[in-house]
Amino acid sequence: MSENRDILGLDVGGTHYRMGLVDRSLIPRRVEVGSSRALIARGDSLAALAERIQTYLQAEADAPALVCIGLPAVLNRERRRVLSATNFPGLEGRDIVDWLENRLGLPVVLEHDAYYLLAYDIHRLGLVNRGTIMGCYFGTGLGNALFINGEPYIGKNGTACELGHMPVPLNDRPCSCGNVGCIEMFSCGKALERLARERFPREPIGTLFSAHPDAPELMDFVRYMAAAVATEVNILDPDHVLLGGGLVQMADFPREAFRKAILDSTRKPCPAENLSLFFAVDAPENGIIGAAIEGYRRLDAGRNQSPDF
Ligand SMILES: [Zn+2]
Repeated sequence: MSENRDILGLDVGGTHYRMGLVDRSLIPRRVEVGSSRALIARGDSLAALAERIQTYLQAEADAPALVCIGLPAVLNRERRRVLSATNFPGLEGRDIVDWLENRLGLPVVLEHDAYYLLAYDIHRLGLVNRGTIMGCYFGTGLGNALFINGEPYIGKNGTACELGHMPVPLNDRPCSCGNVGCIEMFSCGKALERLARERFPREPIGTLFSAHPDAPELMDFVRYMAAAVATEVNILDPDHVLLGGGLVQMADFPREAFRKAILDSTRKPCPAENLSLFFAVDAPENGIIGAAIEGYRRLDAGRNQSPDF
């Protein structure tokens, strides 16, 4: 009976993948962290991923109810195909769900990884998933997700929440999406690496904010991050805003300056006056648990029941 079976959650990032089984109480077990680059190096990253899953599941007596996979990729509305994934060769255009279900003999759910992270953070903070809840996760790129009344908002084509590709006017810095002047190129990991190389060549990137707390270049960087968040806040007037990703977890990242810059650019009196901002707590299992939350929600919705968490 699938009601009592675990969900296998997979959070596949550009650098690492994280995989684990999660039960109804949302406790993960057998969390495995491995190199995504090793999968990619195999050429067919989808076949390599399927092989990893099969090997992992060999130790289990029961098959999971669902395999829920999060990818940092633009997916189609049906959540079956990758429309754009700059980090993973061999994924674009294929019906990934169909291919994996045939290979694994298990039902597969595919989602943008930021939705899983946001589902996890809503759960961790004990927020009621009603109204409008947005998440901005500043990692290699800007992962953005939105839940409206508990449902992921994905847009007409499935390509909503590409906030990182908001244009910075009068700028032609190329972006991995093919456009130029996207705010991701000023506010994410790739941009910070570039800034470190150009302005702080002797400083390891991990200690940039600790060693140069008042550097104007870093304050400008934080203001770009804030501009993206404030733009979405001004459009949505959200109930809650989640801020996370590796960048905001960096040592001595100036969270208060970030929060202030968001509020400075947020419309007065509202939504600025009572803006509900939370910082995520980074852990490898977040995306795995978030995958299971979404998986159980979908299983229950399919049976016309209310989620029990
Ligand atoms: Zn772009």
